[in-house]
Amino acid sequence: MLEVRNLHAWYGESHILHGVDFDVREGEVVTLLGRNGAGKTTTMKSIMGLVPQRSGSIRLRGRETIELRPDLIAHAGIGFCPEERGIFASLSVTENLMLPRVVASGGLDLDTIYALFPNLRERANSPGTKLSGGEQQMLAIARILRTGAKLLLLDEPTEGLAPVIVQQIGRTIREIKQRGFTVLLVEQNFRFAQTVADRHYIMEHGRVVDMVANAELAASMDKLHDYLGV
Ligand code: ATP
Repeated sequence: MLEVRNLHAWYGESHILHGVDFDVREGEVVTLLGRNGAGKTTTMKSIMGLVPQRSGSIRLRGRETIELRPDLIAHAGIGFCPEERGIFASLSVTENLMLPRVVASGGLDLDTIYALFPNLRERANSPGTKLSGGEQQMLAIARILRTGAKLLLLDEPTEGLAPVIVQQIGRTIREIKQRGFTVLLVEQNFRFAQTVADRHYIMEHGRVVDMVANAELAASMDKLHDYLGV
């Protein structure tokens, strides 16, 4: 689904990514793990075309996207949910869900979204300002599902959320996967990553330095401890 090869990215003079390589297969949930500043968010923003200068290759279903503008990358079928979530505070939940432009066939209709996120249905008329952090995160994910994007990039969806809400987000991600969506997840919460992902890429200093299959995690704890301090 996604092939990232020799990806470099710069913010001005700062060279942040130094040749990132990884793949995400269709239908997988894959995480980027790493300490603060390793380059996880910059990798996601580079995939979405939101970093001012980048080079290398980013192929979506074989199509090169490295030169495309962010709106065309969205049209190619990638949806990005940033850490700050980007909910329109003055609009209701339903209005937030009606806003996204459908970029590809297969975007979920409102009834399907509300069946997937029953807590959002209960809050359908509430303005964004009245939503809890967890509800905002659900809404941000739901909005992407409206667009028809088949690959979702989620940047730290569990950040700042209570454990019970983190579990809900986990259930949501597993359900999205069952529906055939592909998810690339940036996470600091290693325990959470373990409950949702098929594979994990470890990033250090702007590079992917290792890959661990979820099934092999238990045997890789020492290595992960060194990389992540968990
Ligand atoms: P975190 O969880 O702390 O966000 P991360 O792995 O996602 O970690 P990035 O946010 O990708 O890391 O940041 C990688 C490096 O790029 C850091 O050194 C950061 O200071 C720098 N950086 C990030 N955004 C910018 C920016 N807009 N301008 C300049 N430098 C930036």
